[in-house]
Amino acid sequence: MQDDCIAVALGLPQLKILGQKEMESHFEVTVIYRRGEARCPRCGKVTVKEHDRRQQCKQDRRLRDKTVLLTLIKRRFRCLFCGKVFTEPDEVFGPRRRSSHRFREYLGQEALHQTVRRTAQKEIVGEGLVRRCVAEEIGKRLEAKGVKETPKFIGLDEFSVRGRRLYHTAICNLVEGEVMEEVEGQGQHRVEEYLDKLPQPERVKGVAMDMHEPFRQAVQMCLPQAKIVADKFHLIRHINSALDKVRSRLQGGSRKGKRKDLFKNRYILLKGAERLAHWEKERLNQLFYRYPELKGAWVLKESFRAWYRETDRSKAEEMLGLLEEKIASDSLYEFKEFLHTFTNWRGEILNYFEYRIINGFVEGKNNRIKTIKRMAYGYRNMDNFRMRILATNPGYEGRVSHLLT
Ligand SMILES: [Zn+2]
Repeated sequence: MQDDCIAVALGLPQLKILGQKEMESHFEVTVIYRRGEARCPRCGKVTVKEHDRRQQCKQDRRLRDKTVLLTLIKRRFRCLFCGKVFTEPDEVFGPRRRSSHRFREYLGQEALHQTVRRTAQKEIVGEGLVRRCVAEEIGKRLEAKGVKETPKFIGLDEFSVRGRRLYHTAICNLVEGEVMEEVEGQGQHRVEEYLDKLPQPERVKGVAMDMHEPFRQAVQMCLPQAKIVADKFHLIRHINSALDKVRSRLQGGSRKGKRKDLFKNRYILLKGAERLAHWEKERLNQLFYRYPELKGAWVLKESFRAWYRETDRSKAEEMLGLLEEKIASDSLYEFKEFLHTFTNWRGEILNYFEYRIINGFVEGKNNRIKTIKRMAYGYRNMDNFRMRILATNPGYEGRVSHLLT
């Protein structure tokens, strides 16, 4: 070897290197399998008799930014017992493949994190190959996922695709923090179809969901033993929006004039009381002095947040009764719709005090879905989109502490 070279292992110990050349754009390496014998596929006897040799060109993972082209000397053996002529096995590349397994695996993994086109350009291969590799990779990942046991806690969560008009439903494993399935629409039927296929439906103890009637119907139908838990953040969001409506009404639609103080302080109103800075509290006090009705609405909002910190279900139920009385006797009609919700979803809302499950990792998940949508832009293939969501699930990373059971 020359004294200005280093040797790099090819990392394919089954193969012996017969020659190597470094070209401007690529490496050319001639290889042959190390074995000196092969087993006859017809009679099972081992033979060392070589029949002939052929050359095949294969592509492997790049080395120092250069494509690696392997010329494989492939042999055919002849069985001395039954006379069969056969090609030696090829575990590094696979039959009739023009690239190595490890290269295809690498392409599949790469293309899960960037577009197919970019991967193809970067690795100097065809897009068709990359697409097949992604499909293979996704298939493998989903298969590995398929054997997982049915989780104890499931979340049903709607999210919008392509703007605001089209909704999909994510069915999530709240224990692992994974999207288990993603179905079109927010209807009962598709969710039921999935829940019906769960291998151990009796394992499910709780299902967290938005207060969406078709979801409730689906769970009652397919998982009758599971407790339905109305998602806490969903409810808090509604409460916040009621408070915001009161603010907007008092403001009279005007952002200017003497009521601009309301508009200016709208975020302070929605902020949790415990996170308010001193000056923000001052600001609120001034507002409440001017608009006593607003104070009533704010106190209601904070009462709900405090109520959610209750630890005992029967205590929580008692407190809910008091909150209902308060709303009923108040003149704030923006909050009156909750009386209906509390009647209609009472059990599900109170179930939170038994199973504290929330669609907690949802935020991260939605971001991930957005990223995937951006990457899949131009594909228009919802099936592809769905597969990518399922295959790139992140781990839950210790967030299981939400689940106090
Ligand atoms: Zn034979």
